Amino acid sequence: MNLILLGPPGAGKGTQAQRLEEKHNLKQLSTGDMLRAAVASGSELGSQVKGIIDRGELVPDDIIVEMIAERIQRPDCAGGFILDGFPRTVPQAEALDEMLAQNDLKLDCVIELKVDDGALVARVSGRFTCAACGAGYHDTNKPTKRAGVCDSCGGKEFIRRDDDNAETVAARLEAYHRQTAPLLPYYDGRGTLSSVDGMGGIEQVAAEIDAVLNKCKTGG
Ligand code: AMP
Repeated sequence: MNLILLGPPGAGKGTQAQRLEEKHNLKQLSTGDMLRAAVASGSELGSQVKGIIDRGELVPDDIIVEMIAERIQRPDCAGGFILDGFPRTVPQAEALDEMLAQNDLKLDCVIELKVDDGALVARVSGRFTCAACGAGYHDTNKPTKRAGVCDSCGGKEFIRRDDDNAETVAARLEAYHRQTAPLLPYYDGRGTLSSVDGMGGIEQVAAEIDAVLNKCKTGG
């Protein structure tokens, strides 16, 4: 099963993708994580995109499309994948349609996580990840069970993203509404879009996503 999680920054796409990865044996493909890894590695791509990410703008479509086109062909995607943060523009969605057709793959489901803009800044500014294994947490919504220790791997170092500050979040939200929201009618018109209320707790949202996936699997 191949699916897209769509939603503004802080909607919970990464959290839900990590959970789906474990529960349904799908591969999470986060373009944001890939770009941050490129920045951290000091590669040419990393230096090209760092300023764009820090300003909360979108990286050019051709860079992103090339990255994903290569990624979905790797063996770890054979059991299905979750696109988290891609596509973010209509040209990216069109390129995705093409690459799926070329690889004889199908998009089963697009799930929109609906969250009010007002809730997003608080969500984004409280989040952090384990430096060792990448598990995601939030100061109030999903703290580690033991203070300062990662639940998943026992790691003790955590990272907060540079672009998770109020000013950059405002720019990222603007980019979402202007460039990404047009994907909702794009996928609705193809009959693949389902919307889930992303305002609830993590488990509640997860249960709603599972219900949507069950419907997708049975073709309902
Ligand atoms: P994310 O981790 O998904 O919030 O992405 C962090 C940042 O990476 C975004 O604010 C963009 O600058 C960039 N980015 C991630 N995915 C994309 C994409 N599909 N298209 C363009 N820029 C992206």
